Amino acid sequence: ENLAIGIDIGGTKIAGGIVDGNGQILRRSFRPTPGQNAALTEDAIAAVVNELSDGNQQLPVGIGAAGWINRSGSHVLFSPHLAWRDEPVLERLEAKMNRKITLNNDADAAGWAEHRFGAARGEELSVCLTLGTGIGGAIIFDNRILRGSFGVAGEFGHQTLVVEGHRCPCGNRGCWEQYVSGNALGREAAELVRLNSPRAHNLREACSADPALVTGAMVTSLAANGDLACMELIEEMGHWLGLGISNLAAVLDPGVVVIGGGLGSASTSLIATAEATYRKLLPGRGYRPYARIVRAQLGADAGLIGAADLARHDR
Ligand code: BGC
Ligand code: ZN
Repeated sequence: ENLAIGIDIGGTKIAGGIVDGNGQILRRSFRPTPGQNAALTEDAIAAVVNELSDGNQQLPVGIGAAGWINRSGSHVLFSPHLAWRDEPVLERLEAKMNRKITLNNDADAAGWAEHRFGAARGEELSVCLTLGTGIGGAIIFDNRILRGSFGVAGEFGHQTLVVEGHRCPCGNRGCWEQYVSGNALGREAAELVRLNSPRAHNLREACSADPALVTGAMVTSLAANGDLACMELIEEMGHWLGLGISNLAAVLDPGVVVIGGGLGSASTSLIATAEATYRKLLPGRGYRPYARIVRAQLGADAGLIGAADLARHDR
């Protein structure tokens, strides 16, 4: 049966599951991510693992975390959205749970899952983007995750797309993820509410007129119900997404770009707009093939499925 536990640690939630050798999830467990506190985050991970293993200490455990993992998979070097700062997370979690663990970046885990079981099967070079709190990125090449020299390849979300743009928790300004992510969507929508925009009446109602309560998920669900202001926000975001993808294509020439994460899975129009923009901006367009731009087949579960699968492989 080849069962393994996969854990996906994002900016807002810790999602876990028992996953079989075909990438099917048999059981699940969730906890909210304790904000900016490393010890509480590790406690919550251990709680999810314990709940899922139900006394079976033999199941391999794979973790995909929204952080920059060093090459050997022992340390989280940095994370824009989580509390870890150059910490021996692997050692601490193994000691806490008294079992062996495999640690990967969350988007790398998602990209791996799409390569093994999803939309990138059979591709020699694929790129996966997870749109959630930020933008996660993975490059899968020749059946492997391309990790880079220090473990932090594929951090596409922190390419500078706007000079002097919005500040980013990575320390820079104008990062791609400040223009395409759940956080970016929430920030833009909150601004519409704050400005008392005449078009934002549905948004204002959804957040009880409190801009602090606006979330990206609120915007995607209003957009899905035809709210014009929210649809417009998603369309703007789609252009930014397509622009960034054309940059990636210039560097990597992928056969497919898979888009997942909570936001990527929630909105089809986002991907359609991104694809149109990408096709307008690809360098040398008309004289070279276009990559397929597709939604993650495993949806928002890709991260945990990939994390589990990576626990069964050598890192
Ligand atoms: C981080 C990535 C992470 C992504 C998605 C980004 O801000 O830099 O490491 O994969 O957010 O969670
Ligand atoms: Zn950044």
